[in-house]
Amino acid sequence: MVLLSLRGTVLSCGTGVLAAVLFDKDGTISHSEPMLEALAKARVFHCLELADLAQRDPEGHRFLADLLHRAYGLSDEGMLPSGTMAVASRDHNLVATATALVQAGLGWPEALAMAETVFARTDDLHGQGSESRPAPTPGLRPLLEALRDAGVPCAVISNDHVEGIESFLAAHGLGRFVQAIWSAEHQPRKPDPDAVHGLCRELGVAAEHCALIGDANSDLRMARAAGVPVVLGYRAGWRRPAELDASFPQLDHWQELSVTAATTPPGPPSMASGDSRPLGISSPID
Ligand SMILES: [Mg+2]
Repeated sequence: MVLLSLRGTVLSCGTGVLAAVLFDKDGTISHSEPMLEALAKARVFHCLELADLAQRDPEGHRFLADLLHRAYGLSDEGMLPSGTMAVASRDHNLVATATALVQAGLGWPEALAMAETVFARTDDLHGQGSESRPAPTPGLRPLLEALRDAGVPCAVISNDHVEGIESFLAAHGLGRFVQAIWSAEHQPRKPDPDAVHGLCRELGVAAEHCALIGDANSDLRMARAAGVPVVLGYRAGWRRPAELDASFPQLDHWQELSVTAATTPPGPPSMASGDSRPLGISSPID
């Protein structure tokens, strides 16, 4: 019987069999902040250039810049982990951009067209095309290896597109560890709990036997609503630590998580101590 253990405490999992681990991507398995920050700043730059308010309406120019910074979650302290760039899909970010342009005085058709132009200009800065290429978060690979060795399938559930998820995994040799993905192209998307059920169907497992790890409350609450018994918050994916719902167990490094062979029947589906032995992982830092 395989279970996860967090800082030495076994996380009991429904009937006791850990069937799969579902990972969020951005801010969880992927250190995406430098890429997303560069992309957000490029979108602000092109919005301001196209809106062309600097000379004729300097106050409007500053207002629009401020709106866009807040819409994207940009700040001197780092990206907001719960902000639009960090959490939302490309099309939701596009609507957020158009909404900021409307608030700066444009009509909706013009705002939407301008946002689409800005995104077309900056799409190449997303993902592996960025000079600030996303990298796996430290210590991830040994955890994935331990899960593979224990026969536990892993999957990625993200609001990035299929191409973005697959190119990240391929760029870092992680594709071999991931049996399924659920992307922005899948329906329904995160944070609908049925996104979890859809991914579990692809894996051939029940959500009630899974673990899900994410860096946003929307991920964690989705998993709980879907009936996932082990739901963990990952806090180390951003310069500004994610402020996560304290009712979920949380970790700051993959080393805190280990794959464990439990030797006693599990308790109820919550954190519970149990007799267990480690299966050979405690991840060195990548
Ligand atoms: Mg995330």
